[in-house]
Amino acid sequence: MNYRTCMECGKPLLADDIAIHRKLVNRGAEEFFCIDCLAVKLCITREMIEALIAYYRRTGRCTLFV
Ligand SMILES: [Zn+2]
Repeated sequence: MNYRTCMECGKPLLADDIAIHRKLVNRGAEEFFCIDCLAVKLCITREMIEALIAYYRRTGRCTLFV
C-alpha cells in the first residue's frame, strides 16, 4: 500500500501532495510534506501550490501528474 504521511505534521498525503513535492523540491524524494507544510517551507501560499497542481494536470506534460 502506498500510504505516506507528511514528515512535518503527520497528515496523510494525497497523490497530489507527493507529486507537487517531487516537482518543487526533489524529484527523487522519499519523504514528503503536505501542501500546507510545503507552502510554509517555500514561503508561498497554499493557493499558489494548488494552482500549480491544477496547471501541471491541465497541461498533461508532467509525468508526475497523471
Ligand atoms: Zn504537513
